[in-house]
Amino acid sequence: MTGHKQGPDPAPTEPKICEHCGESYNRKRFESKMEDIRHYKNRRYCSRVCADEAVKKRARDFYDAHKDEIRDKKKHYMKSLRHKDPERYRKIGRKAKAKERESLFEMYGHVCAVCGFSDKRALTLDHRKNNGSHERKEMGERGVYRRALAEYRPDEYQTLCMNCQFIKRIRIDG
Ligand SMILES: [Zn+2]
Ligand SMILES: [Zn+2]
Repeated sequence: MTGHKQGPDPAPTEPKICEHCGESYNRKRFESKMEDIRHYKNRRYCSRVCADEAVKKRARDFYDAHKDEIRDKKKHYMKSLRHKDPERYRKIGRKAKAKERESLFEMYGHVCAVCGFSDKRALTLDHRKNNGSHERKEMGERGVYRRALAEYRPDEYQTLCMNCQFIKRIRIDG
């Protein structure tokens, strides 16, 4: 931020270098007076914008440097919250899961792909490649939901009712 036309300076000061953008800057001139000299001496940035950006950058840098720590802390914090009020968090979990199920059926169909059964309480996400137990073990049930939701994979997942799921399993196992 240079190039502002300035009249004769009543209190000449050394220019400073903005700690964010590296530009040099000087004491601000207002309508009738100059920026307070102590304010100018304490100021580290050429402008409000650079000051704001510097704050954001510090937060980003801090986060990058302490990512794992912050994640751990958050995890612990969530755990302690769950511990304090398990019923509330079970409720939140149930709600989130119900919402995911709803999105799944929107993606993979609201009825059983084999028999057309449509009562959602007995509909499930079926692994067409029969690797369901493996996937669930790898990433948990919610993880499977998230994978199925992240991308439409009709060759891998379909909606089946519990009955058809059960019959399918017997066919495979027996
Ligand atoms: Zn600057
Ligand atoms: Zn069915």
